[in-house]
Amino acid sequence: MLTAMTTLHTSTFPSRTQTILDTLRDNGQMKRLQTIEGPMDRTVRLADRGEVLCFCSNNYLGLANHPEVVEAGVAGLRKYGAGTASVRFICGTFDCHTALEARIAEFYGCEAAYTFTSCWNANEAIFPTLCEVGDIIISDEFNHASIIDGIRLAGVIKKGLLRTVYKHNDVAALRVKLEEARANPLVTGTTWVVTDGVFSMEGDIADLPAMRALCDEFGAMLVVDDSHGTGVMGKTGRGTHEHWGMPGTAIDYFTGTLGKALGGGAGGYIVGSRKAIDLLIQRGRPTLFSNALPCTIACSAEKAIEVLMREPERVQRLRTNVAAAREGILGTGFTVLDSSTAICPVIVHDTAKAIAMSKRLLDFGVFVIGFGFPVVAEGHARLRIQISAAHTAADIAALCEALRRLKSEQG
Ligand SMILES: *Cc1c(COP(=O)(O)O)cnc(C)c1O
Repeated sequence: MLTAMTTLHTSTFPSRTQTILDTLRDNGQMKRLQTIEGPMDRTVRLADRGEVLCFCSNNYLGLANHPEVVEAGVAGLRKYGAGTASVRFICGTFDCHTALEARIAEFYGCEAAYTFTSCWNANEAIFPTLCEVGDIIISDEFNHASIIDGIRLAGVIKKGLLRTVYKHNDVAALRVKLEEARANPLVTGTTWVVTDGVFSMEGDIADLPAMRALCDEFGAMLVVDDSHGTGVMGKTGRGTHEHWGMPGTAIDYFTGTLGKALGGGAGGYIVGSRKAIDLLIQRGRPTLFSNALPCTIACSAEKAIEVLMREPERVQRLRTNVAAAREGILGTGFTVLDSSTAICPVIVHDTAKAIAMSKRLLDFGVFVIGFGFPVVAEGHARLRIQISAAHTAADIAALCEALRRLKSEQG
C-alpha cells in the first residue's frame, strides 16, 4: 500500500493560468477560434454562422482551393503515402521535395532552396545555423515573431553572437546600427540585416533598395522574410524585391511560407546560395531533427507556384481588388494604413473594441479579425482586412457596406 505523503505540494500553475484566462475574458480580449466546415475561398462556411465572405485569410491568389492545386495534393498522397516516418537526411527526402525546391529556386532566380514544415521553422533554422559567434544580427523592430524568436534562439545557442534592433523601416536608424557594429570590437564576423518584405500587421513594405545599398556599403548580408509579399508584390508576384525592380539575387537570403499565397497548406523555405543551403542540410537543427514537409503539401505547393508562374494575371487581379478595397474602405469613414499591399489595417487602438467590431462584422456576413496585444503593441489594436484575387467586385462592395453599417452604429 502507498503511504500518504506528509507534505502536499500545490502547483501555482492552475490558479495563475485561470487568472490569466479570467482577465482576458473580463476585458473582452478572449480570442475565439472559428471552426470552418469547407475549403478556404472567397467565402467560407463557419460552423455556427454558415457562409460568410472571408477577408482575413492569406489566400491572396485564391489558390488554396484551386482544382489543380487540390488534385496535385491528392495525387501526391496516392503516390507517396503519408510519408517516410523519418527526417530528410535519414530516409525522408522524396523526389517531390527536390522538385519543389528546384521550383522555388527557379521562382526566385536563385541558386538553391530548402523546405521546412513552416516558415516559423525556416526562421528557427536560418539564424542559429548560418550565424556564428562574433557576428551581429540587426533586425527591424516590427519583424515577425518567428524572426524575433529565431534570432533569440541563435543568441542562446551561440553565446557571443550579438543582436540588436532598429526602428521600424527607418533606414537612417539602420545606418546608425551598422556604424555602431563596425566600431564594435566584439563584432569580428559577419553583419546580418533582417527584415520582413511586407510587414504583417502594418501592411507596409521594406525599403529594399536602400537596405541593399547600405548592406553593400557595410559588407553586410541581407535576409528578407517575404511571407506576405510572395505572390502579391511585383508584376509577376515574385515578391517585394520585384516591386522595387530588383532581381532575386539582390537579396542574399529569402525566407518564405507556402502557407499563404502559395497554396495555403503549410510549409516554409529558405532560398539563396547553394553553400548556405548545403550548410543548413548539414547543420540545421530543424533539418536534422524534424520531419520533411508532407508530400501532399509539397505537391500542392509546387502546383500552386506553377499556376502562379503560368497565370501572372492573378497578381494583377489581386492588385485591382486591393486598389478597389482601399478606396472603398476610405469611403466608409474608416482610415486604412496606406500602402499597395493586400493587408489593409484599420486602426481602432483598443483590443476589446477590435474584437467587438470583428464580431459585429460577422453579423453582417463579413469575416475580418481584430488584432490586439500581444500580436500588436498595447494601444495599437486593429482590424486587419486582407484582400484576395478570389474576391469579386461585389464581395468588396459588400465588405464596404458592412463597414459603413458598423461606422453608423458607432456614430
Ligand atoms: C506568416 C508568417 C510566417 C509564418 O509562416 P508559417 O509558414 O505559417 O510558419 C513567418 N514570417 C512571416 C513574415 C509571416 O508573415
